[in-house]
Amino acid sequence: MIWEVRKTKLGVAILPRQPLQCPICGGFLLLHDFRCYDERAHGFRHIDIHMKCPECGFFATFGLPISKEDWERLRKSPLHGRVLKEEAVELAEELGLKVGEGAEHLRSWGYW
Ligand SMILES: [Zn+2]
Repeated sequence: MIWEVRKTKLGVAILPRQPLQCPICGGFLLLHDFRCYDERAHGFRHIDIHMKCPECGFFATFGLPISKEDWERLRKSPLHGRVLKEEAVELAEELGLKVGEGAEHLRSWGYW
């Protein structure tokens, strides 16, 4: 499992255990947004995690089944269901990434 549900300064988030590299340009992918879905009709809960490369715009979706406990923690998080901008930078820094100049871009862009 490459994903980990973590309590961060900004709230509970789901993050890769190791930084993920962009397959196109080699930059590092940042957490763009995540959203929990309750598929009771199908008998499972899942989360869609979007990771995006701030350098080239590569956008990846990961769809994972998750436990009820993680689903509830993530669903209640203030980060749930939002496009993360400055937060994406802070979360990347929690993973030990230095976002540097990219952080200024993310702060100035309405959407990235
Ligand atoms: Zn890239």
